[in-house]
Amino acid sequence: MTETALTVQQTARPTGFPAAGHFRFAESPVPEPAPGTALVENLWWSVDPYHREMMDGDFALHAPLEGRTLGRVVASRTPEIPEGEVVFHRLGWRTHAVVSPEEVRHLPHHPGVPLSAYLSVLGGTGLTAYVGLTRIARLREGEDLFVSGAAGGVGTAAGRFARLLGAGRLTGSAGSPEKVKYLTEQVGYDAAFDYHDGPVAALLAEAAPDGVDVFLDNVGGEHLGAAIGALREHGRAVRVGTISQYNDPAAPPVVFDHSAVVERQLRVEGFLVRDYRAVQEELYEFAVPPLLSGALSLDETVVDGFELIVEAFLLMLRGGNTGKILVRKV
Ligand code: NAP
Repeated sequence: MTETALTVQQTARPTGFPAAGHFRFAESPVPEPAPGTALVENLWWSVDPYHREMMDGDFALHAPLEGRTLGRVVASRTPEIPEGEVVFHRLGWRTHAVVSPEEVRHLPHHPGVPLSAYLSVLGGTGLTAYVGLTRIARLREGEDLFVSGAAGGVGTAAGRFARLLGAGRLTGSAGSPEKVKYLTEQVGYDAAFDYHDGPVAALLAEAAPDGVDVFLDNVGGEHLGAAIGALREHGRAVRVGTISQYNDPAAPPVVFDHSAVVERQLRVEGFLVRDYRAVQEELYEFAVPPLLSGALSLDETVVDGFELIVEAFLLMLRGGNTGKILVRKV
């Protein structure tokens, strides 16, 4: 265990894209666990688009930040958190955390499953994709799907899960030719396009000429307007996130044909994964067997070294990740 603990703190509110200068690393002695708590040395950190939203007000300035994290218990003063166990908690963006039993989640025992999966395809990212497909879209076998932001964490999980659920044709959008190739060659998408190549409506019409039944939307903005235009009768647009707007407060409003929602009997529904924690066990039952058999692969971009956590976060906002971006202790 190192003698010094590091904590990332936000120092200023960004306008538009954040930069490394909006953060600082604060050093302190490694904290001591009080009775009833345990000291965790963090091993894996998740940096997420919602952190960008929190930078506008929810993250207190000059204070430790929150984030999903896995860490090993290195000292414990409660029998509920035994030393040596790896636990999940939300006191991320720091090398060490003192946690109470209410703040930790014990990981299930799935021999052969890599630890990182509990922050990616089996964690909040995978759960978001799974809930979006099964609870909000209520995807049926054979239905055709379009996913925006398809090469990211939620998007790759959605593509792979949709295949396992028996979906029909899968179309995805992403931000580079390499990602488009990755989607069709690795993830199982039938068609994909780079949204920089033209108006999204035209690119989608070319990639999915017969329309789609379900749209899983990580991006919002122009993608949402275009996809509503491509939805078939009784189509569903599942609003997962709006990453095209998080760094662009002046983003133009979404333009779509409002009457189509009535005439084609469409449903547009958003959700927050935090309300679906009860589905977690079902996700394990669904995803662990194919993960162990090799029928489901992990899509992860791993950045090595806690000192690069801010860079990893900024890299993700600029599209530098494929699959779920994670930071690993070295
Ligand atoms: P991610 O997709 O792994 O990473 C973000 C991606 O967004 C980047 O890789 C980049 O890929 C893309 N992006 C950035 N700026 C963009 C823009 N202007 N237009 C289009 N794409 C842009 O992140 P994630 O964790 O899987 O999250 C995906 C979405 O789900 C986010 O909107 C997030 O807020 C949302 N989410 C919602 C919930 C919920 O409870 N509803 C839970 C988790 C995540 P490209 O190279 O393709 O541009």
